[in-house]
Amino acid sequence: MRTPYLAGNWKMHLGRAEVDAFCAALAGMQRPDGVRVGIFPTDVWLERTSRALAGSEVVVGAQTCRPEHKGAFTGETSVTQVQDAGASAVIVGHSERRHVLGETDADVRARLDAALAAGLDVLLCVGETLEQREANQTDAVVLGQLTAGTEGLDGALLSERVSIAYEPVWAIGTGKVATPDQAQAVHASIRAHLAQGFGAPAAERSCIQYGGSVKPGNVSELLACPDIDGALVGGASLTFDSFAALIVAAGGSH
Ligand code: PEP
Repeated sequence: MRTPYLAGNWKMHLGRAEVDAFCAALAGMQRPDGVRVGIFPTDVWLERTSRALAGSEVVVGAQTCRPEHKGAFTGETSVTQVQDAGASAVIVGHSERRHVLGETDADVRARLDAALAAGLDVLLCVGETLEQREANQTDAVVLGQLTAGTEGLDGALLSERVSIAYEPVWAIGTGKVATPDQAQAVHASIRAHLAQGFGAPAAERSCIQYGGSVKPGNVSELLACPDIDGALVGGASLTFDSFAALIVAAGGSH
């Protein structure tokens, strides 16, 4: 049995007062048992969020990191600084970093390796664009990103410390959610690929989240799919009420 993992990616949203109010509400919420919850704020609020959620068992993580420990990288945050801010996880390979900021598979892998070496858990995003889906390249793109991000890792490390988020680029922030069948098909391919590379037990233990316009109205049917183990949520994680509704739905999904 895999623990459902619901993660909120706040991107470059929410000011200080909103962060404080959200964290106070989340820390005080009676959450259902057996649901892992994560919050990924912008770096400037990372330490504040970590402090506000200390002791709540909510994972706090960064949206990316530089793999180097220090250096001349103006505007960036190192993996060590992310950790010093109290975070225990980091997202790598989000499509906005790949497609807007030009991160390559090699960049993503460098961040993943540095994060794991530093002791941070990783949420590795993979996903195809609309053009790639229409050209029947979905599996090739997604599994290619997955291979680049995970090849050579130890299977136990992968299943314990890395969560895979399948995020079709065409569904992120667009309101166009993948149907449960579309999402399940890719999740099943991802799990089969993990089984090939790391063995069936590691694949069975691995968490594969779906991301792309997840909302309280569609989360239950997505989480009911056998290979969907949670969600990475952008827009619907920005208000406490909708994020709390997702947590409650995740609690009913297993
Ligand atoms: C995301 O940014 O990872 C995401 C899935 O966003 P949204 O839920 O807004 O589509």
